[in-house]
Amino acid sequence: MYEFIPDNPYLLLTPGPLSTSKSVRNALLRDWCTWDADYNEEIVQNIRRRLVALASKKSEDYTVVLMQGSGSFSVEATLGTTVPQTGKLLIITNGAYGDRIAQIAKVLKLEHIVYSCPETEAPKPEVLSKFLLENPAITHVALVHCETTTGMLNPLPELARIIKEHGKIFILDAMSSFGGMPLDMADYGIDFLVSSSNKCIQGVPGFAFVIAKKEELLKCKGNARSLCLDLYDQWKEMDKSGKWRYTSPTHIVRAFYQALDELEAEGGVEARYERYCENQQLLVAGMDSLGFEALLPENLQSPIITSFLYPRSNFDFGVFYKAVKQRGFVLYPGKISQADTFRVGNIGEVYPKDINRLLEVISALTV
Ligand SMILES: *Cc1c(COP(=O)(O)O)cnc(C)c1O
Repeated sequence: MYEFIPDNPYLLLTPGPLSTSKSVRNALLRDWCTWDADYNEEIVQNIRRRLVALASKKSEDYTVVLMQGSGSFSVEATLGTTVPQTGKLLIITNGAYGDRIAQIAKVLKLEHIVYSCPETEAPKPEVLSKFLLENPAITHVALVHCETTTGMLNPLPELARIIKEHGKIFILDAMSSFGGMPLDMADYGIDFLVSSSNKCIQGVPGFAFVIAKKEELLKCKGNARSLCLDLYDQWKEMDKSGKWRYTSPTHIVRAFYQALDELEAEGGVEARYERYCENQQLLVAGMDSLGFEALLPENLQSPIITSFLYPRSNFDFGVFYKAVKQRGFVLYPGKISQADTFRVGNIGEVYPKDINRLLEVISALTV
């Protein structure tokens, strides 16, 4: 449908920024006035309505705040605004993005504890239960949905059930899954969900967004530890008229609007999810036949990004990377400490035919 036009020197098989359509990139080519209704009403408010509709069938219970900066800025804004001085945050981590949440909590001097799991293991509901029972002061729990470090899909339904049984506020980093996997925030009692412009919605990088349970966001006035990253104040201003408190990344926002159109044209999140799954399954089967074993077993693997073990101890990823890049594909280095891996993103303007081409390229290599 949206044919990849090779005006880029290579296809990015990365987890964001990722390959975008030419039409998304073309949408950058116009200037906008940030106080005019053409921008605030027609674009910003329209995007906000569409994001909330994507997040839940009970969309009237939710609202969304768009925030300048990359995804981590919005994670920081969410932690800094939602956890009150008297609150305590539990962070569940099994990778770099969970660790980043813990790092933010430390820098912001939030009262917090960490449930840390090995990178190749899923967090366990019974361990989470134990943490919550032994630490009744915990008010908020933060989890990463798809841990992009490995590609693991954390067991959201099981963990969410425990978090809500204990009546905690639930913050989900769904950065690399939102828009690419069906998910209704109401089903899991997610109070704050963070994602960004350059992941599964397939826009270009520059802003992120936090979808919030209205009732909970309303309680956050005056909590923020930062002026610029005050989620509540940003929301109050934006909710009135679509205005961002400070300079808005207009071109990127317009490109994101185009990306949302293209998500709808593809058939919505379900259709996109199917394409990503097909990409991922083709990739794993093909790589397996070429001697590359996936790091994770199938039951822990997301359709978003896949980690592969080096096929032998003297494998030179640098040489492999360069050879594959010369032939049109950019791969992603590994990010874990327990094994030598590299990663291949399955998301973005990437289709099964591209994965087939990649497999042909790798199979013809002698490195
Ligand atoms: C991409 C990503 C982020 C945000 O990273 P930025 O580089 O700040 O955009 C956070 N969490 C996860 C799981 C991600 O995949």
